[in-house]
Amino acid sequence: MKHFSDAIVIGGGPCGSFTALNLARLGVNVKVFEEHGEIGVPSHCAGHLSITGLKLLGLYPLPSRIVENTFYGAIFHSPKGKEFSVRLSSPVTCVVNRVLFDKHVAEMVEDAGAHYSLNSIVESLITENDFVKGVIVRRGNIEERFSAKVVVDAGGVSSRILRQAGLSASDPKTFVNAVQAEVENVKNLNPDMVEVFLGKDYAPGLYAWLVPKHDGKANVGLATNTGNPKKLLQKLMYNHPIASKKLHAAKLSRISFHPIPLGGPIPKTYSNGFLAVGDAASQVKPTTGGGVIFGMMCARVAAEVAYEALHKDDFSSETLSEYQKKCDEVLGFEGKVMLKTRRMLDALSDDRIDKAITFCTKIGLDKTLQKVEDIDFQGRSLLHMLWNPRFSVALLYFIFSYLSANP
Ligand SMILES: Cc1cc2nc3c(=O)[nH]c(=O)nc-3n(C[C@H](O)[C@H](O)[C@H](O)COP(=O)(O)OP(=O)(O)OC[C@H]3O[C@@H](n4cnc5c(N)ncnc54)[C@H](O)[C@@H]3O)c2cc1C
Repeated sequence: MKHFSDAIVIGGGPCGSFTALNLARLGVNVKVFEEHGEIGVPSHCAGHLSITGLKLLGLYPLPSRIVENTFYGAIFHSPKGKEFSVRLSSPVTCVVNRVLFDKHVAEMVEDAGAHYSLNSIVESLITENDFVKGVIVRRGNIEERFSAKVVVDAGGVSSRILRQAGLSASDPKTFVNAVQAEVENVKNLNPDMVEVFLGKDYAPGLYAWLVPKHDGKANVGLATNTGNPKKLLQKLMYNHPIASKKLHAAKLSRISFHPIPLGGPIPKTYSNGFLAVGDAASQVKPTTGGGVIFGMMCARVAAEVAYEALHKDDFSSETLSEYQKKCDEVLGFEGKVMLKTRRMLDALSDDRIDKAITFCTKIGLDKTLQKVEDIDFQGRSLLHMLWNPRFSVALLYFIFSYLSANP
């Protein structure tokens, strides 16, 4: 084969690029194949990221042109318009322009010495003796074979490549269908708070969001496990008691649709000569659908494990299983807690959500949540808060609500 690299990454999204960045920084010869002609385009993401998460990845502060706003907390709205807000003393999250963010990471990758091949769709894996040995890439009408010692699938939610590597993809039943748009002319924006709209009436299976930017602009969207996301978004904009007051005159642009996997990581993320990262491996928070920070954390682990394998010249499933072990150490507990929380939230009726929001306000739960240090590692934060009487009471309330909905 005439084309050879140590490592090949499929997909130039944040997780593919971050894998390539970490590999290149370790001196590995790596090539990234991206099916689109421009990194970051088209974008399907709201770009709402935790500042602590970005810091852990060594990416914060970001250049100011990428960060469109920062937030001190969130306001949660019930379907009937009840409100519960949590405000911290300093910014905890930010909204990034995902196109610029992806391009920024890609620039770092190129500076570190890795190469992108754009307009290049990976059609299939090359497999020999049960080992992945490279990829077949189509550029227009031309098909070429590229070999590598290790191939990393960071191609997002599609399961085609995973299956070729002999791995099981996420169950599509755990996906929610999301719509994301930019809006202008939004009224009564809380400029430094993200707004979350809960309830099956508008966003069954997740929630709707309003992420303010500047000059009356915002990102708006929702994800749903049933029905048409665009119709639900219109319903939110025109019928929701609070959202309609903000959004009835707003103009939508850049509307995109994309699925989000909420079922937790796939059972196996490696095989001989192969690793899966990011949405491809469903490394997404089941509570919020956020996948950038967790996916990039796993991408860094994937790069370290691939580097070790190159060092030992051993690409067996056994050696690469370190990847899953290390990801589980960091995220396993978190994933399990978030999955349970998602199931509990899904079981609440809209009426219960209304009551729960009123209850949380009444017991002053916001004062407890103001002390939360980490919104990515929700399992750990939850454990810390168990000692807090307000939180324990709220937790019992949710468990009781869940049990009475699922006797
Ligand atoms: C509406 C919506 C809003 C979201 N909002 C947030 C948010 O606010 N915060 C957050 O953290 N997460 C959010 N997410 C989730 C987040 O977008 C994903 O978790 C994240 O983009 C995953 O990154 P990735 O690199 O794994 O995959 P992707 O970003 O999907 O990138 C995959 C890349 O691979 C390329 N590709 C795919 N197949 C091939 C192939 N065969 N050959 C070559 N290239 C290929 C694609 O073109 C793409 O560029 C949101 C998702 C949706 C749908």
